[in-house]
Order: sequence, then C-alpha cells, then structure tokens
Amino acid sequence: MINVTRSIMPDYDKYIKKIEKLWENRWLSNNGKYLVELENSLEKRFETNCAVVSNGTLALLIALELFDFPEKAEIITTPFTFVATSGSIIWQKYKPIFVDIDPMTFNIDTSKIEEKITDKTKAILAVHVFGNPCDIEKIDEIAKKYELKIIYDAAHCFDVYYKKKSIYKLGEISIASFHATKVFHTIEGGALFSDNKELINRAKRLRNFGFNEKIEIVDKGINAKMNEFQAAMGLLNLEIVDEEIEKRKKRFELYKEKLKGLIKFQKLSNYITKYNYIYMPVLFENQDMRDLVYLQLKKEGYNTRKYFFPSLDEVYNSENQCRVSHNISKRILHLPLYGDLENENIERVCSIIENVAGVNK
Ligand SMILES: *Cc1c(COP(=O)(O)O)cnc(C)c1O
Repeated sequence: MINVTRSIMPDYDKYIKKIEKLWENRWLSNNGKYLVELENSLEKRFETNCAVVSNGTLALLIALELFDFPEKAEIITTPFTFVATSGSIIWQKYKPIFVDIDPMTFNIDTSKIEEKITDKTKAILAVHVFGNPCDIEKIDEIAKKYELKIIYDAAHCFDVYYKKKSIYKLGEISIASFHATKVFHTIEGGALFSDNKELINRAKRLRNFGFNEKIEIVDKGINAKMNEFQAAMGLLNLEIVDEEIEKRKKRFELYKEKLKGLIKFQKLSNYITKYNYIYMPVLFENQDMRDLVYLQLKKEGYNTRKYFFPSLDEVYNSENQCRVSHNISKRILHLPLYGDLENENIERVCSIIENVAGVNK
C-alpha cells in the first residue's frame, strides 16, 4: 500500500548514537540539552523567537492563552482546516466565528471578515492552508482597524517564506506542528514562533506549569514540554529536511505536468519565495468523481486523503454556513507525496485519474 505521506527519519545508527548520551546524563525532559539546541537551531534558521512544545494543538491552546481574552470572546477563523484549529478555540471556551474561504487559494476570504466582526471579536485565527500564505496585508489592515490580534496556524508551513521572510514571523504569533505527517517532524511536536520575545518567554512559562526560571509559580500553566528523544529526532531531521523538500518539489511538478487540464490545483500566493510541497491537493469537478477516484486508487493500492472533509462549520453546527468551503471539501483529494515516492507510482496514480475522470467527463 502506498500512503499519502511517509515520515522522514534520520539514519538509524545516527539516532542511536544521539540518544545513547541520554543513558549517561539521565536528563530526559525539562529544558534538556537537545531541546535547547533544537530551539536555537530553529531560531537561527527562521530569524525569529521560538518555544518548542509537545504538539501543535498545545501550541494553539497556548497561543490563545497568551492574550488573556475575556470570557466568551469571538475568534474569527476558517472552517477549511484540521479540526484542531477550531477545536482549540472551543476548548478555551471561546466562540469560533467561521468565515468562508476563497475558492482558489482555500484560505479565509478576507472580503467576508468585516461583516462578522462584533464588539466581542478579539482575534483572527487564520490558517495558511497546505502551506499557502493567507492574504497577509488585508488581514493586517482589518486587525489594525478593529484592534484584533492575529494568530496564524502555520502547522503546514515549515520552510515556507513569504516575501523572503519566514512565514513564522507574521502575525502576533504563529504556531507550527511537528507531527510525523508534516514535512519536518519530531514524531509528535509543535512550536510557537514570534518576533515578540516577550510572548515567547511567556509561552515558555505556560508550557512548564507557569514556573519561572527560579521555579516560582508566576503564571497559569500546562504541561506541554517536549522530551529529549523527540528533540534528538528533530535535530537529526533538520539535517535531512532540505533534501526531502527538494525531492518533493520534483514529484509535485511531475504531478502537475501529468494532470494539467484534467483537474484543478490550489492557487498558490504570488508572494511565496520558498515553498515546502507538503501536500498534493487536487480538485475534481464534483463529489461523485472525487469519490470514484478515491475508491479506484484504493483498489489499486494507493491511500489518498479527503482533506479537509467535512467543513468544520458543519461539524459545529455554526449559524454561519460556509458554502465555498462545503463545496471544496467535497471535491478535494490529496494524492501521495513524499521524497521517496517513485515516479512509476506517480505515473500510475495519474493514469488512474485520467481513466476515471476522462470517462466520466
Ligand atoms: C497538524 C495540524 C494541527 C495540529 O498539530 P498536532 O501537532 O497534530 O497537534 C493544527 N492545525 C493544522 C492545520 C494541522 O494540520
């Protein structure tokens, strides 16, 4: 079976050598040496401040905690995302206000944000879906006008650059996921990034029960610490992730060439100066055709994903029904994409799609 993705992993012996040290020093978590090293590497690489945590969902929960929003605050967000985005708003007892997406970029449609703003609105939690940067300037403008905080769910965005700067530098704060299914991973893991050092320092307290450096309790906290085995995996994966992205790029381009004219693709922002090829989303004419292709590919040994399906405004019975998001979520399919995927498999997937989509046109 070919799956939709395949996690990168460092050389086995290298990893063993790295974790062998942990049997000597017995420092397994709590701001360990590898964790600090990983944080420093990420800060240097992306030229911003970083707090690494145990997963992307906790990064979202902590990000929402940083601004001390009042009870029942309304947070503008997108329905076309992984469930963790709105799930964390609800977990925080805030109210997600769903704004529909743009049918080409699949990101929040900024022309529909202002009509949803009330005096309870405190923030915009937008997602750069599949690593595609949002309409940054427009979101900045709206946030400034209504005094809203901007939180970016950049879970898909490792190594994405917007106008030559890391996308993690945008908004008040950005969160990343380092889950095994993402381009760069620490098995499970995540991070908060911000140019605002104060926010990152607070995030570091929050991830460790609210302790400061002198182990005084100075803030409300949670346990979101990353352990040394995960940080070691991250450090070694940092050494191989560039090659992985290069290989994905070639495969992404082969898909595009083979499928051109047959199906549609996500429209990527013109301001991307570096992209990570995290997924291979394609858009069919209708749900029947998408589901037919999904089943046929499965029969022939290819696991694809209907990602994101369903649209989250439907899951949470929101009063704001987002018709574009419903439509896209019924027509989208993610094809297998990873560095070691053989060209023969890409060609096979494309010819199956051509057969099904061609006949049913
Ligand atoms: C993966 C993902 C998350 C959650 O990250 P975890 O590390 O799995 O908790 C949040 N938002 C989006 C858009 C994601 O794809």
